[in-house]
Amino acid sequence: MNKSDILHLLEKEPLEALFRNAEKTLRKHKGSHVNCRGLIEFSNICRRNCLYCGLAVQNKKIRRYRLTQAEIMESAQKAAKAGVDTIVLQSGEGATHPEWLAEVITEIATTLKLPVTLSVGEWGEREYSLWRLAGASRFLLKHETASDALYSRLHPGHALKNRICCLETLASLDYEIGDGFMVGLPGQTLASYADDILLAQKLNVAMCGVGPFIPHQQTALANEASGSTGLTLRIIAILRLALPNANLPATTALATLDPQKGQIWGLKAGANVLMPSFTPEVSASSYAIYDNKHKVSVQAAISAIEEAGRTHALKLADRDDFI
Ligand code: SAH
Repeated sequence: MNKSDILHLLEKEPLEALFRNAEKTLRKHKGSHVNCRGLIEFSNICRRNCLYCGLAVQNKKIRRYRLTQAEIMESAQKAAKAGVDTIVLQSGEGATHPEWLAEVITEIATTLKLPVTLSVGEWGEREYSLWRLAGASRFLLKHETASDALYSRLHPGHALKNRICCLETLASLDYEIGDGFMVGLPGQTLASYADDILLAQKLNVAMCGVGPFIPHQQTALANEASGSTGLTLRIIAILRLALPNANLPATTALATLDPQKGQIWGLKAGANVLMPSFTPEVSASSYAIYDNKHKVSVQAAISAIEEAGRTHALKLADRDDFI
């Protein structure tokens, strides 16, 4: 797909026809199965100052936490029991010593025999390679916006070039790479979304997560409007056509804007991944990337998948697990 094809789909294609086409492509390339990732947000400590994010270092109003290795293992065991197909370890950037994280990765990979996915931001080749050797095999690092100028404005002191360089390093170390971007950041345009889609295509990503921007009250963008759910869904459908084999999640941000239907609509638009959270309740409330962040439970994921007429391998925990 070239830029004018994408712009046509963004501006002119009737939504119903686009969704129909995306669904057809989805069924042909991915079938009806929805893959579920077990998300563990193991720390909200961060060294960056992204203008949109509630975890930014300048936000002194949140309680910072870091789970212990034992707490992470307990959450990972619950996720494995619930039938997820990978454990995703996510945190702010610079939350831990690289060696500490390597130990956690090895323990999860060897005891639970599940692929480990990392989402811990920008590091050097040394750290990425340490974690790859420790057993991690997938990495999520969203480029956030493909506009150079907007990227620099939103991430003081950082450049899009470095983010892309990190994705290329990860790919060269044989990680499966997951990319993504936000929709509705102040300054984004239809042309910049077309560039977002083209960049994901160029990087040949295995996964691409698209979610609406949602303001957080302690950030510089507190008074901006949220991104549109409709436009986010349209972009997910275009991504399904542009990257037929990619894994596309219906993001937690979609569920936050519309807790009843957000993820069901994401699946109908062409998504094939959900990421229920296994972060312990007490910490999940402090992982406030944006206001009123929703926690997607296993039960909610099962309901969304079944309502969308799709299949999954999730199981509800035995009552004993909660005692
Ligand atoms: N520190 C890691 C993980 C970031 S949190 C990293 O840098 O990759 C995961 C994602 O949340 C981000 O990539 C971003 O796309 C999303 N996010 C952050 N703030 C947001 C906001 N205000 N609204 C919507 N999504 C947001």
